[in-house]
Amino acid sequence: MSPFANSERLFKIASQLMPGGVNSPVRAWGAVGLSPRLIARGEGARIYDVDGNAYLDYVGSWGPLILGHAYPEVVAAVQEAAARGTSFGASTPGEVELAEMLVRAVPGLEMVRLVSSGTEACMSALRLARGATGRARVIKFDGCYHGHADSFLVAAGSGMLTHAIPGSPGVPGEIADLTMSLPYNDLDAVARALKQHPGEVAAIFVEPVVGNMGVVPPQSGFLEGLRRLCDQEGCLLVFDEVITGFRVAWGGAQARYGIKPDLTCLGKIIGGGLPVGAYGGRRDLMAQMAPVGPIYQAGTLSGNPVAVAGGLAALKALKQAGTYESLEEKGAWLARELSAAAARQGAAVTINRVASMLTVFFTPGPVANLNDAKKADLNQFQRFFQGMLAEGVYLPCSQFEAWFVSTAHSQKDLESTVAAAERVWTGMARG
Ligand SMILES: *Cc1c(COP(=O)(O)O)cnc(C)c1O
Repeated sequence: MSPFANSERLFKIASQLMPGGVNSPVRAWGAVGLSPRLIARGEGARIYDVDGNAYLDYVGSWGPLILGHAYPEVVAAVQEAAARGTSFGASTPGEVELAEMLVRAVPGLEMVRLVSSGTEACMSALRLARGATGRARVIKFDGCYHGHADSFLVAAGSGMLTHAIPGSPGVPGEIADLTMSLPYNDLDAVARALKQHPGEVAAIFVEPVVGNMGVVPPQSGFLEGLRRLCDQEGCLLVFDEVITGFRVAWGGAQARYGIKPDLTCLGKIIGGGLPVGAYGGRRDLMAQMAPVGPIYQAGTLSGNPVAVAGGLAALKALKQAGTYESLEEKGAWLARELSAAAARQGAAVTINRVASMLTVFFTPGPVANLNDAKKADLNQFQRFFQGMLAEGVYLPCSQFEAWFVSTAHSQKDLESTVAAAERVWTGMARG
């Protein structure tokens, strides 16, 4: 009997019930030629599938689980909150505490609003940018993902890249035409686009460190240049920090690089693994949101007390001294040693890393934008993924995603990962 019999049986049933058997496309393993494992539980850096197989996990729920799985304080906070009632449709003290924590931590946040996902955060920030500027166009970058709202599904990163979907049917051309998608790290392209449409661009949305075409750091001067161009053109700079917020630094990429955006989108880590998103920024802009101002956005479950309790517990744990230094060291060690192992085995890879997020691109590189990322050899990636999985290491099932190191990954875990990668590369070199 297959060691994955339960996963296979359940996935077959799921495929009859849900498109592709999944509730989010990246969970399907089409790009790696396998049927996905269904996960029964997680603890620390490990997850266990429904057949009892254990894996060392570098997906971390695609970013939120920077403390690892089932972090005891988060679990306890969620249990306690649930026992007090799961939703009231009225304000609760936890929301005030979380909002205060976010505003104190993130330099560009003067006011914030909680929502339930990163998609909702980005969609709402775009509406605010359009409402506040009275302009309709938006600039984004090829390979950046800002959730699945209509305006953003143009050259939109991993999920669509992995399944070779250029844009999405269902998005009216009139809406897509308002979105300009430009090469990442290319300030000249931004300047040209702004010149072509003077006074028409409401906002520039950017992942200040890209996670969604694999990890691509901003080149020196890129974020500064965007800030300058936005100021010159009177359009808003929006940092989508749904991945990078509380990941690349306590205050996000804007703290790490010292650039203040007008608006910031958050998600993932701020919910501690529960559904929380947030958008916020300048007070004069946020004051234009209902019920103070005329721009509308709402949510039945926004600021949900159970989700907020999970997020608060996670942020309190992360705030402890030394957390980000330790994550930085772990990320640096892993990237350096993987690089050395690849070189020893003659594997042509480029490893991009910022803090505890990294991607092993199967191309000699460098990788500074989507065009570079697309040069990766996807067959090599597939063999590497399958080899690592057989070694018990659970990696993102797409070349165009980030590996996430958590505080739960021990030095021993990192060492075993490098040893596994070296064995896989040795096997690949033999053909
Ligand atoms: C994940 C992600 C989103 C969307 O968040 P969801 O919670 O999946 O809706 C938006 N922007 C970035 C940068 C992301 O990584």
